[in-house]
Amino acid sequence: MPESLEDLTRRARACRICVETPLGRPLPHEPRPVLLPSSEARILIASQAPGTKVHLSGMPFTDASGDRLRSWLGVTRDEFYDTRNFAIVPMGFCFPGQDAKGADLPPRRECAPAWRAPLLAAMPEIELVLTIGLYAQAWHMGDARRGSLTETVQNWREVFAAPARPVVLPLPHPSWRNTGWLKKNPWFEMDLLPFLKMEIRRRFMAHQSKSNPQ
Ligand code: SF4
Repeated sequence: MPESLEDLTRRARACRICVETPLGRPLPHEPRPVLLPSSEARILIASQAPGTKVHLSGMPFTDASGDRLRSWLGVTRDEFYDTRNFAIVPMGFCFPGQDAKGADLPPRRECAPAWRAPLLAAMPEIELVLTIGLYAQAWHMGDARRGSLTETVQNWREVFAAPARPVVLPLPHPSWRNTGWLKKNPWFEMDLLPFLKMEIRRRFMAHQSKSNPQ
């Protein structure tokens, strides 16, 4: 019998692969996996990896990136952390550390191969995957990915209309480091974000009417 989502999540939260059997350099601190899977949510936020604030809080997106992501989605904090709405499963569950310039390292490459497929299999209600950044796009989008993040996100209408299930919508990372990217790509705020907000509301309403039939 496949492992339940609860058991898988419990094991993932106790994971020590990156200190005990790392690929290359071990994680430079104690692992603290941060993920919020859900067997009820229809929308998966496939994000990147925790930063320093999330490493301390132990909750996903308790930082400026989270504030920006919630504003992109048009949701309150309560709606965002309600696991009937969203599952949040990053490509790397632990804060990966920083490089010499103080930038966050990429998600640990041990993480997705160890955990992603069984966790996704245990979340069969997911209908929409928001792929945030290059690493999530590489894992979830296959041939629908283009040569750069900008081209991939710019192609969002075609990606969203593809017959794949779950449906995918690519996004850049909401980090303040990407403010320059947002300025250079005004179509993102003008076209994609209104569509994203509408789609999230539509799915919330569809879920509510299914849960509370008249
Ligand atoms: S990053 Fe992933 S694989 Fe590595 S210790 Fe954390 S949970 Fe385990």
